[in-house]
Amino acid sequence: MLKSIEDYLKNIYELQEHFERVTTNQLAEKMGITPASATGMIKKLAAMNLVKYRPYQGVELTDAGRLMALEVIRHHRLIELFLAKALGVPWDRVHDEAEKWEHVLSEDIEERIDRFLGSPRWDPHGAPIPDKAGNIEQRPRVRLCDITHPQAVRVLEVSDHDPELLRYLGKLNIYPQTDLTILSIEPFDKSMTVRHQQSTHTLSALVTSYIWVLPEEHMKKGQANAV
Ligand SMILES: [Zn+2]
Repeated sequence: MLKSIEDYLKNIYELQEHFERVTTNQLAEKMGITPASATGMIKKLAAMNLVKYRPYQGVELTDAGRLMALEVIRHHRLIELFLAKALGVPWDRVHDEAEKWEHVLSEDIEERIDRFLGSPRWDPHGAPIPDKAGNIEQRPRVRLCDITHPQAVRVLEVSDHDPELLRYLGKLNIYPQTDLTILSIEPFDKSMTVRHQQSTHTLSALVTSYIWVLPEEHMKKGQANAV
């Protein structure tokens, strides 16, 4: 029960990062469940004061729900980094492992992992790790697919939802903190030609929709050093 409560809260949080209003259907689709079971669970979470829910208006985390979501996300991202850094697990495999571990991590081990890693700020995919109090860093970031003209960008974060995507990006040597130069954007399908180190790659619009970057204007302001 606790595991599924945590999973719901985490998924609502992640959807809220991208959409102003989160619907039951979106949540059901993201979690691979039926809208009916999502609605049932949301009503339970509302009764526990973890979400606010109004039919046809969507679902929103309460402060208590948000805090609980951030605690699971902290576990998830710390575990991913621990697996990658301490055990050398490839970055396309840490997410699935962390999905299991995140629910069973004790406060003591969480703190030890945090200390071992030197209180890290980002997970292997570049996502910020919330602190113990539930503060999470907000950075100026843009989806690569939303950039409209050629410029230099720095990769901040990539989606960890699909190991295949991570293996592909790994093959191209594109990781968080990688600098790319966008050479051209194809008007027809928005595919992008980018230069990275000595090589040039063409990235489809699907791939660029899963990469968040720091646009050139923010790199110039010296904010690049802060990330
Ligand atoms: Zn993950």
